Amino acid sequence: MIANSADPVSTLPPLREIIRGHELAARKSLGQHFLLDLNLTRRIARLGGDLSVATIIEVGPGPGGLTRAILLEGAQRVIAVEKDRRCQEALQSLVEAADGRLTLVDADALALDSSTLGPPPRLIISNLPYNVGTPLLTGWLKQLAEDPEVYSRLVLMFQREVAERLVAAPGSKAYGRLAVLTQWLCKGHIALDIPAAAFTPPPKVASAVVVLDPRPKPLALCRLDLLENVTAAAFGQRRKMLRQALKTLGVAPIELLERSGVAETARAEELSIEQFCALARAYEHLSSFPCGTR
Ligand code: SAM
Repeated sequence: MIANSADPVSTLPPLREIIRGHELAARKSLGQHFLLDLNLTRRIARLGGDLSVATIIEVGPGPGGLTRAILLEGAQRVIAVEKDRRCQEALQSLVEAADGRLTLVDADALALDSSTLGPPPRLIISNLPYNVGTPLLTGWLKQLAEDPEVYSRLVLMFQREVAERLVAAPGSKAYGRLAVLTQWLCKGHIALDIPAAAFTPPPKVASAVVVLDPRPKPLALCRLDLLENVTAAAFGQRRKMLRQALKTLGVAPIELLERSGVAETARAEELSIEQFCALARAYEHLSSFPCGTR
C-alpha cells in the first residue's frame, strides 16, 4: 500500500520525541529494543500481506514504531498488547490518531489467549520481546494444532539464532524440537535480516523476521503432546543413536523404532518431521498397549 500522507498517523511527532517526552528508558527486563526507522518497520508490516482485511495482533508495541507502520500500511483493526504502563501512556497519541483502528490491551501476552482479541482472519505481527518470544510462539503453535485457522499468518522478529532454529532443515545444527513443532504446523522462512544497530538500544545479537504460514492441516497425523515427548527424548541426547536416546520414554525403543520404520542407529537430527510423527504415533500405540498385551 502507498503511504497515505493524509493519515493523521503520519503527522505524529517522531518516535524519538515521544520516547524523550515520556522518559521511556528501555528496560532490559521487558526485552525493550525499539525500532525507530519507519522505512524498516513498514517493510516488516508489508510481510503481513493485505492488512486491511485482518485483525492484526501486535505483542509489545513499545513506543509504537511498528504499530504506526502497520496502520500506515492499511490495517483497519489493530489490537496491541503491552504490559509496560509507560509505553501505554506514550501510545495514547497514536490511539487518537488511529481514530478507532487501534485498541490497546493492558496485559501480559503470556497470560492472554490472543485468539480472543478479534475476529479471524488474525495476523500476528510483532517485534517480540526476546525473553518471552519462544514461549509465546509455542503457545500460538499449540493453538494452531487445535485449529489451523486460528491465525492466518505470523510475522515475528526473533534473535537471528532463534529464527534459524525455527526454519532449520534436518541434518543442520539448528534442527531441533522447535523446528519440528514449527514446521509440522507451518511453512516458514526468514524474510528479513535486521542488524543490531537498527534498534534503540542495540541488542548484543542480530535479529531476523520470520514469516510463518499455518498449513491447512499438520504435515502428518499425530498427537502434539506425544510429538513433544518424542522430540524431547530424541533431541535431549542428540548425539546418541535413537535406540539409546529414546529409552527415557518408558517403552521398548527398538520396538518403537521398528514400528515407526526408523533405523535404530539413526540420530535425532537425521529424522524428517514425518518420521518424528511416525514415532509419535508408534509411541501412542505402545504406551496404550504395553508389552505383552498387544
Ligand atoms: N514493537 C516495538 C518496536 O518494534 O519498537 C517494541 C518492541 S520491544 C522488542 C518488546 C515490547 O514488548 C516492549 O514494549 C515490552 O514492554 C513489551 N513486552 C515485554 N514483555 C511483554 C509481555 N509479557 N506482554 C506484553 N508486552 C510485553
